[in-house]
Formats: sequence, structure tokens, C-alpha cells
Amino acid sequence: MGSDLSPLDLVVIQIDGLHVGGAGAKQAADGGALTASHVLLATNAYTDDLWPGLKRTMFPLQSLQIATAPLAEDARRSILPEGHVVSDTRRLLLYFRLDGRGHLIVGGRGTAGERIVARHVAYVERAMRRLFPQAAGAAREYVWAGHVAVTVEQLPHLHELALGLMAALGYSGRGVAMATLLGKLAAERLLKGAAADTPFPLTPMRPLPLHALRLPVLAAAMQYYRLRDTLDILLR
Ligand SMILES: Cc1cc2nc3c(=O)[nH]c(=O)nc-3n(C[C@H](O)[C@H](O)[C@H](O)COP(=O)(O)OP(=O)(O)OC[C@H]3O[C@@H](n4cnc5c(N)ncnc54)[C@H](O)[C@@H]3O)c2cc1C
Repeated sequence: MGSDLSPLDLVVIQIDGLHVGGAGAKQAADGGALTASHVLLATNAYTDDLWPGLKRTMFPLQSLQIATAPLAEDARRSILPEGHVVSDTRRLLLYFRLDGRGHLIVGGRGTAGERIVARHVAYVERAMRRLFPQAAGAAREYVWAGHVAVTVEQLPHLHELALGLMAALGYSGRGVAMATLLGKLAAERLLKGAAADTPFPLTPMRPLPLHALRLPVLAAAMQYYRLRDTLDILLR
């Protein structure tokens, strides 16, 4: 399998095991094995047990978005008319934009679990109607969610786990630019070793204690932060 791959191939496979040996890593995948001299684990919130302890270095949290039906032209003109994409500064931040077809898209935090919870959708929808009353009458057309990896300090982590094996994760909901940059830095480090210019700290992996208790702890923390965000608005 490995001999058929060129650097430009896009390979989508589920990796079920990772074994480090010699100068590289050998990955046992469905139906075969793949040998690589350089491996970057970029599994972010979906990190599983491929590398012991890695998934305990962050908390997977839902980022949840809703989209209205396309808005009427006059409402579109009054909402972010220059096409800005915005995120705010509350503890559980909200982000919003209009797409090219006039859907108003608003996102926020969901649960630490798998399912989409109705009251979190309602929270984002209420915020949307408060921020943009001109869209209040628009029906909600879509709801979707995925997981982001949140670290304690809300900054990403770059780890050198073994010779030829790196991991980059923990963008805390801001990975579109950061993951692209850290991917490039990790690739340079893998190829050039210590000679690479890596202007981002390479840190040892630190699994969080009591990670198994994260679901109730995160649920309580999110309720607390939501309450404080609401009080900030009410007491302003
Ligand atoms: C609804 C939503 C809105 C967001 N909005 C923004 C935004 O506006 N701006 C922003 O900067 N960020 C945003 N984010 C966050 C951003 O999407 C992530 O930070 C970014 O995708 C991280 O990129 P990544 O490549 O590290 O990980 P991901 O894109 O999460 O990719 C990880 C991949 O690893 C794969 N994987 C895991 N385990 C294995 C395995 N064993 N074998 C093979 N593959 C495996 C997974 O299937 C997945 O495809 C948003 C996220 C969501 C869910």
C-alpha cells in the first residue's frame, strides 16, 4: 500500500493502531498496514486511543450552529452589510455571519457529549433574535454541530511524541487558521528536526487528571459561564 502513495495523494482511512519502531511509525489500518517515516496526528477533538494519554490533554466540546431561511433583501442589507464574520467576547462565545444565499448563521457552544441538546439550540436562537431583531421572523432552517478540542489554557498544543511522530491539537474552537499554521510548522519539524524554525512552543504531553469526570464537570462549568454571560448582559 505505502509504495503506491505520492505526497499528493489524499488518503482517507480509519487508523486503528499506531506502533512506533525504528526511525518511523507503522500504522495498522483496516485491511493492511501503512509504514511512514513521518507522522502527524491531527485528530483534534476526535482524538481516540491511538497514542496513550493524548485524548486526555483536551476536552471535546460541541460547537453548534443554526441557520435561518434566506432573509428578505432589506433584512440582509441591514445585517453585516460588508460581509464581516464576527465572533464576540463573552465566555461562551457566539459567532455569526450571513452566507452568500442570505442565510443568517449563528453559532455557539453545545454540550460536551454527542447529542444536540434542544435548550442549547434555543439559547443560540434567542441570542440570534436579540442580536438581529430584523431576522426575528425568519424560520430556523438548519441546526448542526461538531466537536472542537478545548485546552485548559485555550491555546493549541504541539507535541513531539517520538522520533518522526508529532501531534497538533487543542485549537479551542479557532482552528481554521491555527490548525493550518501548526500543520505547516509540524511538517517542517518532522522533515528538518531541530534545524526547523518552530516559532511555537513544543510542549510535553500532559494528560489531565480526572479527565473521566469531564462530562458532569463541563456541564456544570458551561451552565456557570452561561449564567455569568447572561448576568453581564442584564447588569450592563
Ligand atoms: C460548527 C463548527 C464551527 C466552527 N467554526 C469555526 C470558525 O468559525 N473558525 C475557526 O477557526 N474554527 C471553527 N471551528 C473549529 C475548527 O473547525 C477546528 O478547530 C478545526 O477543524 C480543527 O482542524 P483539525 O484538522 O485539527 O481537526 P478536525 O477538522 O476536527 O479533523 C480531525 C480529523 O481526524 C479524523 N480522525 C480522528 N481519529 C482518526 C483515526 N483514528 N483515523 C483516521 N482519522 C481519524 C477525524 O475523522 C477528523 O476528520 C468550528 C467547528 C465547528 C464544529
